[in-house]
Amino acid sequence: MNELHYQIDLLKAMNAKLTAKESMYNLICSSLSDAFIYYSFEKDEYTTLGKWSDLFDFEINDSRDFETLFESVEDSYILPLRDTLYAEKRNESSASVDCRIKDSVNKWVNFSVKITYNDDLTPHEKIIIISDITKNKIQNDELSYLAYFDSLTNLYNRNYFVRVLGSFIDKAKAKGDVVSVMVIDIDDFKRINDGLGIVIGDELIQQLGDFIKDFTNDNVIACHLSSDIFAMAMYDPVDERSVDYLEKCISQRTKRSFNLSGGQEIQITVSIGVAEFPEAAESALELINCAEIVMYKSKSMGKNTIQYFNTPLINEFIASVEIENKLREAVFSHSFELFYQPQYSSVNHRLRGAEALIRWKDDKGTSIPPSTFIPIAEKNGNIIPIGKWVIEESIRKYMEWKEAYDYDFVLSINISAMQYKRDEFVADLIDVINKYHMNPAYLELEITESILIDDYHKVMEKLKRLRDYGIRVSLDDFGTGFSSLSYLKKFPIDTVKIDKSFVDTVLNDSATRIITESIINMSKALGFETVAEGVEQEEQYKYLNAIGVDNIQGFLFGKPMPASEFSDILKGLM
Ligand code: C2E
Ligand code: CA
Ligand code: CA
Repeated sequence: MNELHYQIDLLKAMNAKLTAKESMYNLICSSLSDAFIYYSFEKDEYTTLGKWSDLFDFEINDSRDFETLFESVEDSYILPLRDTLYAEKRNESSASVDCRIKDSVNKWVNFSVKITYNDDLTPHEKIIIISDITKNKIQNDELSYLAYFDSLTNLYNRNYFVRVLGSFIDKAKAKGDVVSVMVIDIDDFKRINDGLGIVIGDELIQQLGDFIKDFTNDNVIACHLSSDIFAMAMYDPVDERSVDYLEKCISQRTKRSFNLSGGQEIQITVSIGVAEFPEAAESALELINCAEIVMYKSKSMGKNTIQYFNTPLINEFIASVEIENKLREAVFSHSFELFYQPQYSSVNHRLRGAEALIRWKDDKGTSIPPSTFIPIAEKNGNIIPIGKWVIEESIRKYMEWKEAYDYDFVLSINISAMQYKRDEFVADLIDVINKYHMNPAYLELEITESILIDDYHKVMEKLKRLRDYGIRVSLDDFGTGFSSLSYLKKFPIDTVKIDKSFVDTVLNDSATRIITESIINMSKALGFETVAEGVEQEEQYKYLNAIGVDNIQGFLFGKPMPASEFSDILKGLM
């Protein structure tokens, strides 16, 4: 009897312990955000625990209820889910699958299964853990979207484009095929952006991006490279994926205007550069680079054109990059020198002035002409320190000459548009003039028409300040630009320099003579002094003198020379 009581007490105690454990498990499960299904193979019994009701509105009481569970996920996930939940059929101890819930906006659930086995390897228990992974999934999707796509255009981004292009190239290498890359840049986009605002600019990019996207498929990919630049790559470029075809479609599209919000209608042109594997380069990045360089070339050739990769073009580019690098060092080491070219009165041959012309010898002692390096310096901004140096050095030298020879002549300095545009330009110049105590009436700035066509009010305001201070302004290379003399009337300038191209042909071309004569007559009428540039022959001089050109500059009377040689000229005048 005692024995029986003892047994009953023991069972009671064990039961109490069990319910305590069970309630502990329940508590733990309900405090987690997951739902659980527990299954005992021996008892063939299912228990749902945790946040089951947050996820599903049915219970799992026996194996038939699993059909309801399978029906709750999207069709394509039913089979993988079945495989996962019955992992014991493959003697596995764990399995996991992500499923999208049917008829939900975008709800994702992960099913993760763990199975324990008896010593005889029959399954013992199974726990299925079900977690809501919607948040993670959305974040991942966004991340992978961001990793592959450009958010403005929905085209591939640069990185992903490079990757896919790389796989095009690998395939083409193996099969002996060609891959073309086109880089497409909107002409004068900055003007659109500055004039109409970046929102409109973005809209334009989107619309062009949409248009380009229509051509993409397994063999044609496109990306938004940067700002207003797109790239396309075509595997085995034939027929509807050939450069010719795509270029034609794009140019037909750009002929029609883009309708932007606010009723804006814009017409654009594009510049295109093309490079092909294997001709131009072997890697994706190099190929894009080549196409980009070629695109910039087509831009410099007047825009609205397509340019194909060729070796001389790339060599030219490499040379200009080399110059650019050397130029950067030259700015630091001041390895520049100024030459001076005399200007004479055509009437009495009196020395009228000298134009300061920069000279540069690179580290190997090779002279690089300013017509080569000045445009590069203008592009990369080096013209600012270079131009500053030219101003200071020429004024310093001028005052040294003034001190030594006391001969009043005009010092002409070439000023680049970028220099002139700077707000500090006039004040900085005046500082240098004051530092060396130069009489500003003998300083002449040579500017080109390209400066005048910029922001009219700013240009005017600076011109007025310069002139109010007594500094002279000369219009360089006159006749090569597009401005007419009547247009010049608006600007307070002192001197017009007639470009060498007129002087070159004036003796044999009657049309040039007519134009040159009318330039001289109108300049006189408007009160401008005139200088003819590049006079090499006596006959040219005689003619120019006869039609009334005030001053002559050219090899005939003096080439640009080092300061020491110019000193000799001044010495001879004493
Ligand atoms: P530019 O201002 O038109 O200068 C006149 C150019 O014509 C000079 O070339 C000069 O050497 C050349 N020249 C003068 N007379 C004759 C002639 O009778 N026959 C021939 N064949 N050429 C003649 P350079 O010195 O090579 O300068 C080229 C250009 O580089 C200049 O054209 C100017 O635009 C630019 N440049 C030169 N120095 C500077 C500078 O200090 N600053 C800036 N911003 N540009 C400069
Ligand atoms: Ca000049
Ligand atoms: Ca000139």
